[in-house]
Amino acid sequence: MRIDIVSLFPDFVAQCAAFGVVGRAAERGLLSVHGFNPRDYAEGNYRRVDDRPFGGGPGMVMLIDPLRASLRAARDADPAPAKVVYMSPQGAPLTQAKVREFATHERLILLCGRYEGIDERLIRAEVDEEISIGDYVLSGGELAAAVIVDAVARLREGVLGDAESAVQDSFEDGLLDCPHYTRPVEHELGSVPEVLMSGNHAEIAKWRRMQSLGRTWERRPDLLDEATLSKADRKLLDA
Ligand code: SAM
Repeated sequence: MRIDIVSLFPDFVAQCAAFGVVGRAAERGLLSVHGFNPRDYAEGNYRRVDDRPFGGGPGMVMLIDPLRASLRAARDADPAPAKVVYMSPQGAPLTQAKVREFATHERLILLCGRYEGIDERLIRAEVDEEISIGDYVLSGGELAAAVIVDAVARLREGVLGDAESAVQDSFEDGLLDCPHYTRPVEHELGSVPEVLMSGNHAEIAKWRRMQSLGRTWERRPDLLDEATLSKADRKLLDA
């Protein structure tokens, strides 16, 4: 998979993708992250990438042409079609389902704004989707792009050592994940639940499902409305 970052600070996103499982995936050729800086495509001695907003008000707005040229260069860098995603607090909230969908693409171009944002005409003409990573405002889209790179990369085939581990994560089946324990069995902070050491796979699976349901009910009851629950799940929740 190839992900292009159009940003005034493309190295920031590339650096974020250089660590852990994502970094190892890049080393193994499963993923590549490339940066395109609008400043490199800006004209004039000052290589200007922003200007004052029409109508007045504070801040600056990113110019159409340097961004358009960066997007064109990103598109032309590889013949495979790319989806252009603008990181924006006004976009659709990022969800695990959306991350799964992005992970099916061979190419993504992530467009990062700065200042007050990007000239609306560029967004309308070039962007396929707008995505927000939460109801708060960042100073730039780079952190949001790094979030997408990380979340998408770990779903690509071969990136995680055990593909099952992504399937068991929170949100994959609509619920939060169960708690996890490792050695030692006894610790001054508590003991590991006995069932996890019983070797009884059916009982372990049942315990984990109960924990998932319980946690989701306690922490994110909103998720239960959308989750696919069995009769047994419903009985556990009603108990
Ligand atoms: N004036 C814009 C607004 O209120 O909608 C905010 C601009 S923000 C200071 C600058 C850039 O940061 C945006 O163009 C966008 O790329 C990025 N950004 C800020 N918050 C974000 C969020 N929650 N999710 C994704 N990108 C965000």
